[in-house]
Amino acid sequence: MTATLIDGKAFAAKVRGQVAEHVARLKQDHGITPGLAVVLVGEDPASQVYVRSKGKQTVEVGMNSFEHKLEADTSEADLLALIDQLNNDPAVHGILVQLPLPKHLDEDLVINSIAPEKDVDGFHISNVGLLGTGQKSMVPCTPLGCLMMLRDHHGSLSGMDAVVIGRSNIVGKPMAQLLLGDSCTVTIAHSRTKDLPDVVRRADIVVAAVGRPEMVPGDWIKEGATVIDVGINRIERDGKNVLVGDVDFASAAERAGAITPVPGGVGPMTIACLLANTVTACCRANNLAEPEGLTA
Ligand code: NAD
Repeated sequence: MTATLIDGKAFAAKVRGQVAEHVARLKQDHGITPGLAVVLVGEDPASQVYVRSKGKQTVEVGMNSFEHKLEADTSEADLLALIDQLNNDPAVHGILVQLPLPKHLDEDLVINSIAPEKDVDGFHISNVGLLGTGQKSMVPCTPLGCLMMLRDHHGSLSGMDAVVIGRSNIVGKPMAQLLLGDSCTVTIAHSRTKDLPDVVRRADIVVAAVGRPEMVPGDWIKEGATVIDVGINRIERDGKNVLVGDVDFASAAERAGAITPVPGGVGPMTIACLLANTVTACCRANNLAEPEGLTA
């Protein structure tokens, strides 16, 4: 392997440390404790694991964690009433509704009922619009984590050719907006892109967010490019369950200048950025200076 490994696990620990320091200052100087409310509807096993992990890390950095677990058959009216209550609760600075929601609930309606300034996932239509127009917003956690790692590795991203593979609202589109905001020349590739290998070969920065195990082989990667692999795919290999990304790590690491592993790359950054967004939301709510380096 010739590429530099971008260690998301270590980076996430550093971000959590910065968040914890800021939380301690908020408590000491202003008597304020940031609070994150997480709402889980139903019993999806993966969602339960995420919510537990989010709650644990929230408490570890010194913030208040409010968990709301609702039955799978909760009505839309009851869920919206809970969100309204959280919107109006001054102890709650961030609200996250764990997705996916059960089928009978309208995800867009639910997300857009969260007060935009408490929408720490950055999925509210107001935050999407603010990000798209280069204004201060809450930024989706996974792309924010990718941006932090890219800035840390490169310093300035200005003028670089970036390709984002995937156009989801959660990762691909906000990632492209953030790279554009940092003055990259951005291409968004997707399932209908005509010659994906050719598009990827031109990129100084490749962000893969597709959800297809190891679909990007090393020979698509330009020599020296930086590869950020967002994909999390569970596959069976040699009789064992393993996690792999959207990039074929072994071959890509021979050509890339820097690359994130899976696991231990983008994954740990996502919750760290959720905590960062919560402390940012708390500072904004109280007209206090935001923590440096933890926002876009
Ligand atoms: P999604 O299914 O919503 O979107 C996938 C995108 O990939 C689509 O826009 C589609 O056009 C594109 N695509 C599909 N097939 C393609 C192909 N053959 N060539 C090019 N593009 C193709 O997925 P998502 O929510 O954006 O997530 C993508 C991946 O990232 C998944 O593996 C998911 O598990 C992972 N993810 C990781 C984190 C994290 O914290 N690390 C967070 C969110 C998502």
